[in-house]
Amino acid sequence: MSIKQWKQVITITVVATIIILFILTIVFAIRSYHLKNFMESDNVIIMSEDRDSRHQDLKELVRYFEKATPKGNLSYKQQYPALYVENTYRFIKSNDKEKVCYLTFDDGPDAENTAKILDILQQFDIHATFFVVYKDDEASNLLYNRIVKEGHTIAVHTASHDYDEIYSSVSAYLKDFSKISSHIIEVTGIKPEIFRFPGGSVNAYNIKIHKELTAEMLRRGYVYYDWTVSGGDAAKAYVSSSEIVENVVSGCEEESESIVLLHDGAGHYTTAEALPEIIRRLKNQGFSFAALDNSVNPCFFGY
Ligand SMILES: [Zn+2]
Repeated sequence: MSIKQWKQVITITVVATIIILFILTIVFAIRSYHLKNFMESDNVIIMSEDRDSRHQDLKELVRYFEKATPKGNLSYKQQYPALYVENTYRFIKSNDKEKVCYLTFDDGPDAENTAKILDILQQFDIHATFFVVYKDDEASNLLYNRIVKEGHTIAVHTASHDYDEIYSSVSAYLKDFSKISSHIIEVTGIKPEIFRFPGGSVNAYNIKIHKELTAEMLRRGYVYYDWTVSGGDAAKAYVSSSEIVENVVSGCEEESESIVLLHDGAGHYTTAEALPEIIRRLKNQGFSFAALDNSVNPCFFGY
């Protein structure tokens, strides 16, 4: 090539590079603006009803997480070392053909019910998630450890389970969360990374603070899980085991990925009674079972 041709090639390359850089800058600016709006619109995290849009929302949420708490976010990590987890979100788009059921148990440990439920899960060789409350007796400490040793996920529910107290302010909630989280660490050596709000992420008690509260918890790297199917085992004083089975099995029929709310707290003995039948019937429907961890797509109630 002549010098003139070389000059032309170089000029074209330089101009093309400049144009590409310019386009990238514009795209990046628009995206940042969108993200900023997404999270600063009152910190509202709106999860759509239908699955595909929900995955789209999750993608936005992941981008927000990455911005708000980039890996090694010094300010949050240094300010709140005990109440911060490194985010490891993967947010996998689940394959709709694979049916997965995440059984979750709230309000334990209870000497009788949690032990029974752990035995049943062991018999069926499946794993589940326990959102626990604060207890400090020997039997409860053994159960926290059994949950961990037997391969289940131990997660934060609340220390006191006193709605008026924990939802009186964001700092009151954090104080309660810190108490149960550090108790779990002390007893089991495991730092819980996921949690469930008592009463769900939006309820009559936290309606005034829930936006601020959920945003604060997410900034600290904690993912929370509401549920897609309720066993209804806490709906009234006595719920028969057959009612619980029906609630869960019919609830899971429409879902390929079900997060099932059940209770192992004191008095919920029919839940343990219902469990073997629930597992058998869901297995027949083609479900496999797994414990939640923060790589599972979160389930937030839309609001
Ligand atoms: Zn509860």
